[in-house]
Amino acid sequence: SIVVTGATGKLGRLVIDALLATEPAGNVVAVVRDKAKAADLAERGVELRIADYSRPQTLAGAFAAGDRVLLISGSEVGQRVPQHTAVISAAKAAGVAQLAYTGVLGGPDADFRLADEHKATEQAVLDSGLPYTFLRNGWYTENYTENLAPVLAHGAVVANAGEGRIASATRADYAAAAAAVLTGPLDEHTGRAYELSGDVSWSFAEYAAEVARHSGKAIVHSDVPAAAHLEILLGAGLPQPFAEILVDVDAAVARGALAARGNDLSRLIGRPTTPIAETIKAALAAS
Ligand code: NDP
Repeated sequence: SIVVTGATGKLGRLVIDALLATEPAGNVVAVVRDKAKAADLAERGVELRIADYSRPQTLAGAFAAGDRVLLISGSEVGQRVPQHTAVISAAKAAGVAQLAYTGVLGGPDADFRLADEHKATEQAVLDSGLPYTFLRNGWYTENYTENLAPVLAHGAVVANAGEGRIASATRADYAAAAAAVLTGPLDEHTGRAYELSGDVSWSFAEYAAEVARHSGKAIVHSDVPAAAHLEILLGAGLPQPFAEILVDVDAAVARGALAARGNDLSRLIGRPTTPIAETIKAALAAS
């Protein structure tokens, strides 16, 4: 079977959609912690296996010998190394044929705090000896377009990334790449690390101009020092640890950590990645 963890999340649902476009539903398994949240997946004929990354005993029945597994990184920052390690151990005990993992662009070279748990997870996958595929995802365009409200309200894109560029792509683009490596030839995709970035990179100044163009509002790019950005985010009510992570990411953007790395993504999905203009327009239309 093809098994997707985190299948009730935003990326996971898109991976299931992409798989069902080519695979019979009986061949697709969703590992979820909340059965009720996955009722629609079960209705489509997808097998559910219930497991929580934080409770290793529940992972015992999550995988079977020969499964091709996608471990979608968890969302509980700070807890992910033991969580992912438990998933890897369960996959190893079951004898899966492939373990794909959604890490971060740059892999071991990624030099920002949010990358630490991904780096440790990749190492745990390597230590397990399982046939692996690393899907080193760049930034989701939706990280920005899902947060247009304050941009439109204040007429400003505030960041501490300078002229740093982001080669983002949509979740659906990354999901299509995941489906491709889970359904394509095993010998082609195992033992490989793919650096997945969008075809076109952009700076925050360009992003502000693009939002202005599509919204018809005046939007400026306000580049501020890291400390000032942190104050602004805290003032807007963000929890301190989250605000610190965002400021740290912007500093990494300024260093080029989320800029383009080759064309693995468009090559795997067989089409260009989704332009940010399209994602911005869709977000404005939905708001
Ligand atoms: P979501 O938060 O929508 O999905 C996270 C998924 O992980 C959910 O299905 C969630 O389950 C599942 N999960 C979290 N904790 C556990 C647990 N303890 N046991 C079992 N399942 C768990 O995030 P996205 O789909 O948008 O993104 C997927 C992952 O990508 C994120 O979790 C994060 O690691 C990473 N990410 C990458 C970004 C990027 O720009 N590249 C940006 C943001 C995140 P449930 O549905 O029950 O909550």
